[in-house]
Amino acid sequence: MEVALVGIGKIAVDQHVPAINGSPDWTLAATVSRHGTVEGVPAYSDFDTMLAERPDIRVVSLCLPPVPRFAYAAAALKAGRHVMLEKPPGATLSECHSLEAMARANHLSLYATWHSREAESVQAAKAWLQGKVLRRFTVTWKEDVRRWHPGQEWIWQPGGIGVFDPGINALSIVTEILPDPIHLTAATLAFPENRQTPIAADLAFFHPAGAEVSATFDWRQEGDQTWTIEAETDGGTLTLLDGGARLVIDGREQPSPEDVPLSGEYPRLYARMARLVENGGIDMDLSPMRHVADAFTLGRRDIVAPFHWSV
Ligand code: NAP
Repeated sequence: MEVALVGIGKIAVDQHVPAINGSPDWTLAATVSRHGTVEGVPAYSDFDTMLAERPDIRVVSLCLPPVPRFAYAAAALKAGRHVMLEKPPGATLSECHSLEAMARANHLSLYATWHSREAESVQAAKAWLQGKVLRRFTVTWKEDVRRWHPGQEWIWQPGGIGVFDPGINALSIVTEILPDPIHLTAATLAFPENRQTPIAADLAFFHPAGAEVSATFDWRQEGDQTWTIEAETDGGTLTLLDGGARLVIDGREQPSPEDVPLSGEYPRLYARMARLVENGGIDMDLSPMRHVADAFTLGRRDIVAPFHWSV
């Protein structure tokens, strides 16, 4: 199948292009970007032109930041294309619901991807937690924004969601592996005084069996980076490390699972998109985004030191 990649920036170049090029399912048939191109691939700077001139391309993969994404997704669905969405799938829940309704009405596939769910040990962690009584569940996502988002101004603008941009990856794993539904009960969001989005957040959740569920996200971490989920249960302690890549049970590192198809998060996302298109499927799980929206609704707002790219 031919796919057009839209928004040739960091994630398109780092992950999407290699995943498409390595896939037996896909050919990168066009790019759409105002500045970026991929060598050897026909490049368009205007999306409507690509849609009009390339009716042969049935699928578009949108790698733009969340705020401009809705207009592109809506135009693609209107033009009869199947659509794959980078995370978060939109700037608001309402626009995501609207896209889903459009896709259903037009019998098109739509995929809200959550790349962290495809990390190597996430399914093994999910299987281990099944049937256990949860006592405490702690999420710690601490990274250096200057290292991972160099110069990206959109993350600080309304809709850019700040530290929830990586935090939503943690929440996508949480909502995948936790057997019980949780919901937010309290949040504290730290906004730099010169920015529109938070640089850090502490979240607390209700758990139906009374387990203590919390998450800490922080973009001010220098040195070692932390992407860890820890679950204390009646059957031992699980630690998911490096954003879901490694699994430790009661202090013992678990071998990489052998039954995980393909290698890497993005190759698995593209394989799933291929199956969705073949079967006319829609996958629009918005649960990670719901928790983020709740945090902005319910969260206490602290104003902290201004953020500048250079220290
Ligand atoms: P990015 O490099 O800042 O932006 C991607 C591209 O989107 C830009 O190169 C730009 O291309 C286009 N773009 C930006 N603003 C636009 C606008 N207002 N209208 C139209 N096009 C616009 O961002 P990124 O890091 O790749 O992130 C994109 C998405 O992927 C985000 O939702 C992010 O959460 C997700 N993601 C990022 C990472 C990561 O490590 N960076 C990892 C996983 C997922 P042109 O200017 O050439 O049009």
